Amino acid sequence: MSDLTHLFEKIVAREIPSHTVYEDDLIYAFLDVNPLSVGHTLVIPKKRYESLADVPEDAAAALGRALPKITAAVVQVTGADAYNVLLNCGKRAGQVVPHVHFHIIPKYEDGSGLGIGWKPGDLADGPALAQRIADAIH
Ligand code: AMP
Repeated sequence: MSDLTHLFEKIVAREIPSHTVYEDDLIYAFLDVNPLSVGHTLVIPKKRYESLADVPEDAAAALGRALPKITAAVVQVTGADAYNVLLNCGKRAGQVVPHVHFHIIPKYEDGSGLGIGWKPGDLADGPALAQRIADAIH
């Protein structure tokens, strides 16, 4: 497989064509070229960060501003009354392009959209774990 590291930066720079949905100083959104369903849209920071945990506050705030309004437009145009918003981080989690991207994926009555395998377990050691995570937030 070719190196996909800089694919989305090339899309932002128009070196590779895409179907633009939204753009501002920090954010770019475009149609997924292999959609799981009609309207499948990707929302990215223009600058490349591999993990959500690496995204600085200005880009994070811009993502937060853009995501609801792009989602609202996707829902309005497709008529989908259900959708998933997904971010894969890390190969094991299904990330193929190492540039943070939110998927907006409409889910339709015919079943098209994101299929989810969700196997919930029991919460062990909740208070201590929550406290450790809380202490690690900065
Ligand atoms: P992920 O597996 O979360 O890294 O998702 C990568 C996504 O990028 C996939 O859904 C691909 O279909 C999509 N993709 C790959 N190349 C392109 C491209 N040139 N234009 C639009 N979407 C793309």
